[in-house]
Amino acid sequence: MTNTVTIPTPKTGPAPFPIPTDLWIGGKWVESATKKRVDVFDPSTGKKITDVADCDASDALAAVDAADAAAAAWAATTPRQRAEILRKCYEQIVANIEWLAYLISLENGKALPDARAEVLYSAEFYRWYAEECCHVLGELAMAPASGARIMVQYQPIGIALLITPWNYPAAMATRKIAPALAAGCTVVLKPATETPLTALAVAQIMHDCGVPAGVVNVVTTSKASPLSKAVLHDPRVRKISFTGSTPVGRALLHEAADQVISCAMELGGNAPFIVCKDANLNDALDGAMLAKMRNSGEACTAANRFYVHKDIYKPFTDGMVARMSAIKLGEATDPESTLGPMVNEKAVAKIAELVDDAVAKGAKLLLGGQRLNRPGYYYPPTVLADVPDNADMMKEEIFGPVVSLQSFDDEEEAIRKANDTEYGLAAYVYTQDLKRGLKICEKLEAGMLGLNRGLMSDPAAPFGGVKQSGLGREGSHHGLIEFCEIKYIATNW
Ligand code: NAD
Repeated sequence: MTNTVTIPTPKTGPAPFPIPTDLWIGGKWVESATKKRVDVFDPSTGKKITDVADCDASDALAAVDAADAAAAAWAATTPRQRAEILRKCYEQIVANIEWLAYLISLENGKALPDARAEVLYSAEFYRWYAEECCHVLGELAMAPASGARIMVQYQPIGIALLITPWNYPAAMATRKIAPALAAGCTVVLKPATETPLTALAVAQIMHDCGVPAGVVNVVTTSKASPLSKAVLHDPRVRKISFTGSTPVGRALLHEAADQVISCAMELGGNAPFIVCKDANLNDALDGAMLAKMRNSGEACTAANRFYVHKDIYKPFTDGMVARMSAIKLGEATDPESTLGPMVNEKAVAKIAELVDDAVAKGAKLLLGGQRLNRPGYYYPPTVLADVPDNADMMKEEIFGPVVSLQSFDDEEEAIRKANDTEYGLAAYVYTQDLKRGLKICEKLEAGMLGLNRGLMSDPAAPFGGVKQSGLGREGSHHGLIEFCEIKYIATNW
C-alpha cells in the first residue's frame, strides 16, 4: 500500500488528493528497497509534517531502468502530442494554485504571496514549453565547397538526471521537467531533502495529465551523493541538469566527467545592485525590495550587495529601513505574513554569522540583526549600512532578509567591486539615463541584468549565469536545446 500524507488547505477546503510519500518509478508509487524514511519538517514550527522514502542508489538505478524503458516511445511521440500533455499540466497546476501554494509554504517556509507567485511561475514552464515544443526547427544548408547538403536535426539527448534545491520546490523542478519532456527526453528527478512533497504532488498531477509511465520518475533521499554518483556512472544517462550551490555543482561536474555527460548547472549568485545618482528613488526602492525580499531573500538572483551613489545614499538607506520595517514576519501559512521563516536552523545560523561578522568589521546595524526567541527558524528583516568590503557577506550568498549597503562616488569603482566575485548570475542597475544603464550592463559580469527592474525571471527568457554561477541556460528556446543533441547528416541529391 502506498504511504501518503493529506495536506489540507484552509482556503479551498479538502486536498485534491493525498500526496504519496513513496518513490515514483515507472508509473507506480513504490517503497524504497531499504524501507528507510526521511522526515520532512515545517520550518514555521520546527515540527515534523511527515516522512518520505529515503532511497539508495539501487532505487535510483531502478528509476533509470524505468526512464530507459519509456524513452523510445516518448521520443517517438509527435511534438503536438507532447505539447497537449504539457498544456494540461499547466492548466492543472494553475487550477490547484491555492493548495500547491499552501503546500510550498508549509514545507519551505515562504509566505503565501511568494508561494502563489511560485506556483504560477512553475506552471508557466509547462505552457511555454507546450508552445516551444512545436517550434524546434532543423537546418538545411549547402556545403560551400562541395555543394553537398548539410542537414541538422535536434534529437532528444537521452535520459536526464534532474537535481533541484529547496528554495523553489515547484519551479526549479518544472523549469527542468517541461523542456526535457518537450525535447522528448525521459527524466529522473531528485528533489531537495527539505522540500520533497511539492515534487511528489507535481509528479501525481503530471501522471493525471497523461504523462506516460516512466517518462518522469521521482526519487527522494537523504544521501544525494551516492545516488548521483551511481546514476552518473550509468552509461544510459546523457544529461545532468542541476540547480543548487556552486560547491555541489562543482562536485557533480567531476562526477559527470567519467561518462562525459552533458551538464547544465544553475549555481549560486552574489548579485550587486547599483543605484546611480540619477536613479528614480521610489522606483529603485521598489526594485530593491523585489530583488532582495522576493522569496524571503532565499533566491539565487537575490540582491546581495547594494552599491548606492553617495548623493542618494541617505534617502535610499532611510527608504530601505522604512520598507524593511513594514514587513510582517510570521508563520508562512498565515495569510497575514509577508515573510516566513528560513528553511532550517542551519540557514538561520549562517545568516546570523554573516551579520555578526559584518557588524564586527564595522557595518552599522540599522534594523534587526538579532535572532528571535520563538520556535521555528526565523531571522528578522535586517538592514546594515557602510558594510566594508572585507565583510564575508560581500563575498558569500546571504540567502536571507538582510540588506547590505555601501555608498560609492565613482561609477567605475562600483562596477569593479560588483565584478569582484567568483559568481556571475544576476546584477541590477538603476538609472534614468538608458545610455548610462546599458553601458554599465555591458560591463557587469553576469548572465542576467535587471536594468530598472528588480525581477528578471521569466520562462520566455534565458536564465543562467557566467563564471562560477553556472553553465547553460534554462527557460526560452535555449532551455529546450539543452535537452537536445545536434545531429548532422551530410548528403547529396
Ligand atoms: P545544495 O547545493 O545544497 O542542494 C541542491 C540539491 O543538490 C539538493 O537536491 C541536494 O539534496 C542535492 N545535493 C546536495 N549535495 C549533493 C551531492 N554531494 N551530490 C549530489 N546532490 C547533492 O543547494 P540548496 O541549499 O538546496 O539551494 C541553495 C543554493 O541553490 C544556493 O546556492 C542558490 O543560489 C542555488 N540556486 C541557484 C539557482 C539558479 O538558477 N542559479 C536557483 C535556485 C537556487
